[in-house]
Amino acid sequence: MRTPLVAGNWKMNGTRASVADLAQGLVVGAGSISGVEILVCPSYVFINEVQLLIRDCSIQLGAQDLYAAKGGAYTGAISGPMLVDAGCQYVIVGHSERRALMGDSDGVVARKFAAAQEHGLTPILCVGETLDERQSDSTMAVIGRQFSTVVDAVGIERFENAVVAYEPVWAIGTGETATPQQAQEVHAALRSMAAKRSAKIAADLRLLYGGSVKAANAADLFSMADIDGGLIGGASLEAREFLAICAAAAA
Ligand code: PEP
Repeated sequence: MRTPLVAGNWKMNGTRASVADLAQGLVVGAGSISGVEILVCPSYVFINEVQLLIRDCSIQLGAQDLYAAKGGAYTGAISGPMLVDAGCQYVIVGHSERRALMGDSDGVVARKFAAAQEHGLTPILCVGETLDERQSDSTMAVIGRQFSTVVDAVGIERFENAVVAYEPVWAIGTGETATPQQAQEVHAALRSMAAKRSAKIAADLRLLYGGSVKAANAADLFSMADIDGGLIGGASLEAREFLAICAAAAA
């Protein structure tokens, strides 16, 4: 039985004041939602503040990225041990914005995934195709390449403690959502790719959908057999909207 997970990716948004408001709103609302794991991933500079606000409730803390080295002369970078020390349990790796804008290749993503686990963090591996790739019928090839680069590098056993998020690039922040059937098709393909390596790990692997999820479309997406929750961008910046999405995922 896979416990649904709803993760908020706050990206490069917020001020100390707005982030505190948001975290407080989530703490108040999360108490009445059960059957779903709730995670927030603030910008690095707000992690400590958010950790203090959520520490007495069940909301989990994550980061949006990490650098693969453990520490040392890497100006501007944040390591896995730093994130653990700050109270994080999860870290996103391979988000399409990082792949497209910050040059995170499949190989870099695999190294970040391995580093996250080495330091006790659960990686959320993002995969997803662009609009051009979907239109040229390459969706499964792209997803397969992004997923198998990591599996080949670290071994399928490492997915016992990992989450995969399918995030079609054309649906991120665009207001355009994959239909539940489109998302389910890719999720089922991901699960069967994993099952070719280990049926047990594939059956337990949580697969999140991300891409313009809102309270209004969440229940339809989460009703699909292989969608185990969501990775939420824009809609995670409003406590009420995000909590409604969490409630829709609750088992
Ligand atoms: C994301 O960036 O992970 C995301 C899913 O964004 P949005 O929900 O805004 O499309």
